[in-house]
Amino acid sequence: MIDFRSDTFTKPSHGMLQAMYNAEVGDDVFGEDPSVNKLEAMMADYFGMEAALYCPSGTMSNQIAIHVHTRPGDEVICGQLAHVYLYEGGGIAATSGAQVYPIPGNRGMITADQVVAAIQPDDIHRANTSLVCLENTSNRGGGCCYDWQDILSIRNVCTQHNLALHLDGARLFNALVATGQDPKAYGQVFDSISVCLNKGMGCPMGSVLMGSNDYIKAARRVRKRLGGGMRQAGYMAATGIYAMENNIGRLTEDHLHAKKIAGILAEKSFIGEIYPVETNILIFEVKGHMNPQLFAEYLKMEGILVSPISSSHVRMVLHLDITPEMTERTCKVIEALK
Ligand SMILES: *Cc1c(COP(=O)(O)O)cnc(C)c1O
Repeated sequence: MIDFRSDTFTKPSHGMLQAMYNAEVGDDVFGEDPSVNKLEAMMADYFGMEAALYCPSGTMSNQIAIHVHTRPGDEVICGQLAHVYLYEGGGIAATSGAQVYPIPGNRGMITADQVVAAIQPDDIHRANTSLVCLENTSNRGGGCCYDWQDILSIRNVCTQHNLALHLDGARLFNALVATGQDPKAYGQVFDSISVCLNKGMGCPMGSVLMGSNDYIKAARRVRKRLGGGMRQAGYMAATGIYAMENNIGRLTEDHLHAKKIAGILAEKSFIGEIYPVETNILIFEVKGHMNPQLFAEYLKMEGILVSPISSSHVRMVLHLDITPEMTERTCKVIEALK
């Protein structure tokens, strides 16, 4: 099977398994796992932030991040397609007792003007706005990347209104590679950043949350409370170290593959709108005599898996287990579809 359903379907490579096998470990709840400590230091350094915390999943990183930034009854501003709002089990309400002010964004991205308009006035009738969450790349936006100027404008608004700014960077490495931006610039602008290792980076699990020393100290307690303190987690952290050393540069290959497939799709009469392809996610409309379900079934008969995400759109995600040959074959199959 050629699996385009998500970049979470990757399996650890031989080199990654070897890194796990050779990992030095200890009890991370006691702060004594050398591999976890190394990964956390490596990540904090990479983004120019003071400290980092290894978490089992991106959902846990994000929800810990939000919990530490907010108080019950607060309001969190984010795009209405944001993962923290749509796909984390209502965690903002359940875990933090906070509510969301969802903004209709452009492909999942929001603007400084929209943030300003969403900030509640200082009025006892209103919730206390305390946090803005951005997502880069935007998953439901088709892997698009924020303009750096837009991020800076939102940072200014947050500073003026005393709001914290969190980045859900599940696919931040894709954005960095696509735009050539400096990761340390992100560390300067955001109060906290979460990144996923279980997506394009190819690890079986894991995410890292970054912030100031005090912030990560508070986050560490919340991780423990939620049951995310893992003992010899170094076997898993070793996959993150391996990915940082081996899997970042190659993301450009995924982006090229996505563009190649988009080029073939654009020639088909039954394909409508294709979201601009900036990174490893392809979202496109299937119409006319074809529909997303039918399109997915035809491809499945050829051993190719894609995700219908609505009655009109399909999502395909490129990742490190999709070889150039698989991309080539997929293009041929789509080309032959009538
Ligand atoms: C995948 C993802 C997450 C976290 O997902 P986990 O499966 O919990 O690691 C967070 N945000 C975005 C945008 C994602 O795509």
